[in-house]
Amino acid sequence: MMKTADYIRLSEQYGAHNYKPLDVVLERGEGVWVYDVEGKKYLDCLSAYSALNQGHVHPTILKALIDQAEKISLTSRAFRNDQLPLFYKELAELSGYEMVIPMNSGAEAVETALKVARKWAYMVKKVPRHQAEIIVADGNFHGRTISIVSFSSEEFYKDDFGPFTPGFISVPYGDIQAIQAAITPNTAAILIEPIQGEGGVIIPPEGYLKAIRQTCNQNNVLFIADEIQTGLGRTGKLFACDHENVRPDLMVLGKALGGGFYPVSAVLSSRAILGLLQPGEHGSTFGGNPLAAAVARASLRVIVDEHLTENAATLGEYFRDQLAEIPSKHIKEVRGKGLLIGVELKPEAGGARKYCEKLQEEGILAKETHETTIRFAPPLIIDQPTIDWALDKIRNILL
Ligand SMILES: *Cc1c(COP(=O)(O)O)cnc(C)c1O
Repeated sequence: MMKTADYIRLSEQYGAHNYKPLDVVLERGEGVWVYDVEGKKYLDCLSAYSALNQGHVHPTILKALIDQAEKISLTSRAFRNDQLPLFYKELAELSGYEMVIPMNSGAEAVETALKVARKWAYMVKKVPRHQAEIIVADGNFHGRTISIVSFSSEEFYKDDFGPFTPGFISVPYGDIQAIQAAITPNTAAILIEPIQGEGGVIIPPEGYLKAIRQTCNQNNVLFIADEIQTGLGRTGKLFACDHENVRPDLMVLGKALGGGFYPVSAVLSSRAILGLLQPGEHGSTFGGNPLAAAVARASLRVIVDEHLTENAATLGEYFRDQLAEIPSKHIKEVRGKGLLIGVELKPEAGGARKYCEKLQEEGILAKETHETTIRFAPPLIIDQPTIDWALDKIRNILL
């Protein structure tokens, strides 16, 4: 029988080494729990970077997946299918946006939003052709395509992958004056994460999103929010922008939209903006396929019916408060919103990775982000006794 080490050896031999995962080989998941090939049980505190807000193998979503897979899985967009229209309607009604364009991965949805913003700049704002500029923030993470890494501030993500796509200007995150100073008559859009997840759970100053909204209004610029990680309940509101009652012009979703079963992403916007796309200008073979649409519909239903957003708000605050009370000499700061929590360690703690490895031994899977921060982002279905169980272990490790 194959053991953990055997699977790791195969991975290292045949798989590209573009990740450095913890040495745990998972074979089963249920709710907030996952099990490795040796039968050891862990609490999942990463939730696949928030793609598992509904927990592992949620029965409602599983059923939708199986039922749909037995009927029809793929039609391509050359034909229509009976799931996509309902997905459009349900997502539009839930979010309050008029129109939806479906994609698969998050990066693809970001690319889609960027293309739509450029098209809007030329068609509506009358920016000279191919001169459109898009403002982004330092420390951003929007995916891994060449255009997206073109405006990453992480040298390692881009160093060996140029030449880069022009037309992006990066300014310090959280600094509204820097955005205002970067705006020119050719600015099409500002693309921002309302909280920088991969950047280390960085929360901008209060009022930042509102100020971006005002700046966009005053300068005829589109506000694009990348809520791939922060959206769909994670931060204790349906969207993180809701914390400031701000409505972006384009909203990018992914991750939990697929309920952990299937890659589903989307861009939401108004008819005036998304309606600019003409047949043939953009597309995806798998985007909007009936299996994806059925899974996404069930994923959204679970978030609403099981009050996952409210649970994230209540238990997130509890988890954060309890973490902040740990009298650890290693902790510099505990921050977050809802169940997206970062515990930043002091430089002298020697990096977050070794604490993540100790947590793994104790049956908690968490991942360091930006070397010094441990991210705690369990599925939103978690309950308080489970958080208390985790806190006991976390205290032991951090004290
Ligand atoms: C994960 C993530 C993406 C990229 O999504 P993929 O599905 O990995 O392409 C983009 N933006 C944010 C904020 C993310 O967290």
